[in-house]
Amino acid sequence: MVEQTGIYYARKSLFLATMTAEESVKYQVVEIERYSTQNNIKLVNKFSDVGFSGSNTNRPELQEMLRYLRTSTQRINVLLFYSIDRLGRDLVDNITLMKEILNYVDKVVFVREGTTSDSAGFKILFTLLTAQAQDFRIQLTRTFASGRRSKVFAFKNYHGRWTPLGYTKLRKKLVSASQLTTENRAEIQGVKVLKHIFYQSLMGDNLSQIAKSLNENYGLTKRGKAWGLSSVRWILKNPVYLGALRGTLGESESYYIEEANVEKLVDPLIFALIQHRLKIEGKGRPRKSVLTRNPHFTLCLDCGMMLTQKKNKLTCLNCKRSVDVIDLYEVLINESLKVIEGNYESYFDKNDFIDTLRLQHKSCLLLYKQTHAQIEQLDFIKGISRNEKSEMLHKLNIKLDNASRELVVVRELIDFISDKSVSDLMSTHKVGYDLLLKLPYLFIVDLSIKNGTNQIYIIFHQEVFINENELLG
Ligand SMILES: [Zn+2]
Repeated sequence: MVEQTGIYYARKSLFLATMTAEESVKYQVVEIERYSTQNNIKLVNKFSDVGFSGSNTNRPELQEMLRYLRTSTQRINVLLFYSIDRLGRDLVDNITLMKEILNYVDKVVFVREGTTSDSAGFKILFTLLTAQAQDFRIQLTRTFASGRRSKVFAFKNYHGRWTPLGYTKLRKKLVSASQLTTENRAEIQGVKVLKHIFYQSLMGDNLSQIAKSLNENYGLTKRGKAWGLSSVRWILKNPVYLGALRGTLGESESYYIEEANVEKLVDPLIFALIQHRLKIEGKGRPRKSVLTRNPHFTLCLDCGMMLTQKKNKLTCLNCKRSVDVIDLYEVLINESLKVIEGNYESYFDKNDFIDTLRLQHKSCLLLYKQTHAQIEQLDFIKGISRNEKSEMLHKLNIKLDNASRELVVVRELIDFISDKSVSDLMSTHKVGYDLLLKLPYLFIVDLSIKNGTNQIYIIFHQEVFINENELLG
């Protein structure tokens, strides 16, 4: 490959909502430089509207770049932009400007989209862009979202300005804050606050009760504000604690990366349960029933589905059976006491129930695969507009996300009930399984018995009474 000369123009943008302008430009530059290396392009000048420290004295303006192109004695083969939608209004609005640029350079490359000015679709694309077709731009963002994802997400690093509660940054990875990982005492304190929030929620307190007790016990949030409903909700819903990253790309697209460069802190079971509770709480009309106060991870013995509570009934939506609300809390206290006194004996048939869960796992997997296939087939569907297609894609992606999360939950439940030792879990998950927050116990209710007391089984996590004694304190 013959070496070509190139210049680039990086533009300040809110590419990631959580990035600063400098980070955003740095990110663009990294991608542009990677592209140049791969394509044997020697970069001879750089422009940015944020400005580079030291070496580059050019005024960070597009006009400055144009002046350079007009006056340069060296032939420039390639002008690199990070992206079409980062091209800037100034250029998009002005097709004559683009034409002029094409007099000076052999081609223009948009790194992110992989589009070049000598490609067939470019002129059409550019004409459409210059026509200020807003809809088209949004659509374009969506179309390119997957490509962009793979690039942004190749790093899988957390980009936010604030380290999430309970974490510290260690060599670009988010890890739990402890004396081993940080000297920042506020970060270490954050772990305590985090545990407080999750366990209090698990014990059935609503958002305002949690906020109140945080204000009483721990003072202000990281941003120096009093705790409120939204700050507590934000933490309880943040998938970062499952090792995932979420955020916004551009104006319309949001992303969700699983298995990011983030240590998992919260047991997916606790997380799933809390999401479920928040959904119910979000619908308003808090009910002062036993279960609203004391919600627990409660499963149907027959099918393994999580029970939901409506009014004073515990219901399995799958088996369409329900029972009156039972005071699970009392069972919990009684059984816990037995464990502490050494008299705990479980009569629960684990193997049967594990089989039930395996069936559930199978159907989850099937749903996941079907949805995946539907997404792939979407490309071949004819006779629907791009808008409709991207709408469908959006819905299917949500379905896929849900299915994959449900898969995780069922898998975790199977692990929980199989009494897998920590070393077992470490070998299956291949990463540290030292979660900060674990689901302490699991209730399984037999709904098949009519008239009479429904059997409630409780299974404790095998580590609860070893490592988490503060839990019952
Ligand atoms: Zn059921």
